Amino acid sequence: MLIDLSDVFSSRENHIHAEAEYEEDSFGRGKRKVKLLESSKLVLDVYFVEKNRAKVKGSINLIFDTVCDRCLKSIPLELKLSFEELVVSPEAESADEEERQYMEGFKLDTERLLKNEISLRWPSKILCREDCRGLCLKCGRDLNEGECGCDRFVPDPRMAHIKDVFDAYHKETKED
Ligand SMILES: [Zn+2]
Ligand SMILES: [Zn+2]
Repeated sequence: MLIDLSDVFSSRENHIHAEAEYEEDSFGRGKRKVKLLESSKLVLDVYFVEKNRAKVKGSINLIFDTVCDRCLKSIPLELKLSFEELVVSPEAESADEEERQYMEGFKLDTERLLKNEISLRWPSKILCREDCRGLCLKCGRDLNEGECGCDRFVPDPRMAHIKDVFDAYHKETKED
């Protein structure tokens, strides 16, 4: 959605309150698309800061259909976003790229803003629980449900080499 912010760029008296929707049913993470399960409305308040510059305050709750990075169990990811961004009108004399990035002329692009806020808050790791043991690389069993008995030592010559270097390093540091 595009919201015209002209009024709020010109006077302290003006304030814009608006509600918008997250317009898609998924969110792109790299090559994957993560399905959106639930979403509140995006609530926005925009305030005058100085001529041609305004502050956008926004909040939204979103729930995405994600999976644990280790065991692939389905777990919903809830993001409660609450953010503030400065934006500028095209007539602002000095402005950096960040202040311009959500604007189309005098209009705020709510979708672009929201996608960026979601990216910023997306966790680098999604785990069903902190100590999730993941899946056995050999038989695929969920190790949270118990040991499978597989020998998971990796007899890869490259790994063996790394292990040697690692051991040698530790030996050296111990001798210091
Ligand atoms: Zn897990
Ligand atoms: Zn196994």
